[in-house]
Amino acid sequence: MRVTLLSYTKDAERLCASAAHSCYSDKPASELMDDWDEKKGQRWLGNPLASGHHSVIEHASFTFSIEGASRALTHQLVRHRLASFSQQSQRYVSMEDADYVLPDSIARDEEAARRFRELMEHIWEEYRFLSERVPKEDARYVLPNACTTNITVTMNARELWHFFELRCCNRAQWELRAVADEMLRLAREASPLIFSKAGPPCVSRGRCPEGKMTCGRPRTELR
Ligand SMILES: Cc1cc2nc3c(=O)[nH]c(=O)nc-3n(C[C@H](O)[C@H](O)[C@H](O)COP(=O)(O)OP(=O)(O)OC[C@H]3O[C@@H](n4cnc5c(N)ncnc54)[C@H](O)[C@@H]3O)c2cc1C
Repeated sequence: MRVTLLSYTKDAERLCASAAHSCYSDKPASELMDDWDEKKGQRWLGNPLASGHHSVIEHASFTFSIEGASRALTHQLVRHRLASFSQQSQRYVSMEDADYVLPDSIARDEEAARRFRELMEHIWEEYRFLSERVPKEDARYVLPNACTTNITVTMNARELWHFFELRCCNRAQWELRAVADEMLRLAREASPLIFSKAGPPCVSRGRCPEGKMTCGRPRTELR
């Protein structure tokens, strides 16, 4: 699996900080953009973010390419309704050479791994057989959740904050958590002012809202 930050709003920090400060200034954002420096940015953006006024970071968006992830992962990813997606089609692209994701828990169990691999081989054998007789859009019905896919996703920074809260949490499913962790790392690298405090609630809010369901293991490495 590979995650790449394909593109993001130029000057995301300057833009969001100027927009945020324009709410409290007699100057418009166009002038504040020129007046911006990193120290002011900390104040102009840091304060609204600390008080939960996250609408100001909706002005910046980030586009990621997620490659070689399972369909099980993308089923969960596309539940995030404020994001935009473009996913490789199993109707138009032949899956004959596609791969599958083998979860670590199965890989560690020799017998389970053997059965899993055998089943995958059998599934692809049947897929190839069907592909020669019926359209790809029907042959794909035999493919498993483990089948790999590529997807491009765009989120604005506010939605990314929300996504990181849910999917960087230890309670999130491992494959999507790994993708979310990498997206967080890339987003922080691109825009530290916007994302330095983003992460699961144990990082972003300093406490876990899960009550009895808490994992009890705050992700301090992300702070
Ligand atoms: C650990 C975990 C386990 C899960 N298990 C299941 C499961 O068993 N079954 C299942 O079906 N799903 C499950 N989900 C998915 C979950 O229910 C959400 O669909 C998914 O996380 C998207 O979250 P969201 O709706 O908050 O975010 P988004 O769709 O990204 O929306 C962001 C925010 O926008 C607002 N919003 C968006 N759309 C609307 C709307 N129509 N009306 C009002 N406000 C809106 C909400 O404030 C929302 O939080 C699970 C998620 C996690 C993290």
